[in-house]
Amino acid sequence: MAERVAFIGLGTMGYPMAGHLVRRFETLVWNRTSAKAEAHARQYGTKALSSLSEAAKADCIFTCLPTSLEVESVVREVLPALKGGTLWIDCTSGDPNHSRRIAQELKQAGCEYLDAPVSGGKAGAEAGTLTVMVGGSKEGFARALPVIEAFAGKVFHVGGVGAGHAVKAINNMLLAVNLLAVAEGLVTLVKEGVDPAVALEVINVSTGRSFVSEVHFPERVLTRAFPPTFSLGLLAKDARIAVSIARQAYLPTPLIQLATEMFEMARAQVGADADHTAVVKLIESWAGVQIAPLQEARNDG
Ligand code: NDP
Repeated sequence: MAERVAFIGLGTMGYPMAGHLVRRFETLVWNRTSAKAEAHARQYGTKALSSLSEAAKADCIFTCLPTSLEVESVVREVLPALKGGTLWIDCTSGDPNHSRRIAQELKQAGCEYLDAPVSGGKAGAEAGTLTVMVGGSKEGFARALPVIEAFAGKVFHVGGVGAGHAVKAINNMLLAVNLLAVAEGLVTLVKEGVDPAVALEVINVSTGRSFVSEVHFPERVLTRAFPPTFSLGLLAKDARIAVSIARQAYLPTPLIQLATEMFEMARAQVGADADHTAVVKLIESWAGVQIAPLQEARNDG
């Protein structure tokens, strides 16, 4: 059982996740922008590390970084200081091929790697109710479970190393396809003169409903708030991972390839830093309408 953990990457997700860990374990934190680690130490009573290699003092090291590329470079920096037996739990939404390579490098140092991406967004991270999908050995999973439970609602062991990242990429691809499909449907209805708020009320008690139609559109699109909690650039990255997994298996997957292309267009037109739901602005620009409640009271007798 881990006694001391380290958390690398205090972004939207990592910051609150590390805040839950310190309630159960001595927690060391490192962030590229060190002011965030210092703020975390003040807020939660974690210990801010001045150098990345000091993370090697922990029994269990977490990473939650944008992509597997940043994880690989962090692993290479910490690796020389690692003692055998360290468990590396990567909560990044990463690439299964990269995770298998990282696992091999860590294995040579006598350490174990698990991919453990999360779902549930900023709100789930703050509430400590994230869904976690873990790839790795059964023994590694058993060791990691009591630590992961500090910030999780549900934890699944989905297969060997890379399986967690594969499930996460496909989940997020479904989110991406859904966002585009609901946006196309609603701009069509707006053109038809239907209030999208009313259309959503109907859809959300009918068979076309989804998390996107029930939560994202009412809270983020109709309000025009698009609160930046999960960036469009990160969802585009997840879509690309899903496509690369399908390509590697020689599968025809036209829908997810098209959705990925559309996210790349949105990245160029709307911006990588916008919230992922702002992808609808691309569809709106093609249609020349906005998905917003109609202003005039409907009074057609
Ligand atoms: P953020 O952009 O909020 O945070 C990214 C973190 O990575 C920051 O701590 C940043 O440091 C650090 N970082 C960036 N580049 C480097 C680098 N080159 N070297 C070291 N550290 C670096 O991302 P999120 O927290 O939103 O996402 C993290 C991961 O979780 C991603 O893989 C994402 O796809 C996934 N995810 C995100 C969700 C969300 O709702 N936001 C939901 C589920 C999964 P600095 O502070 O210095 O910029």
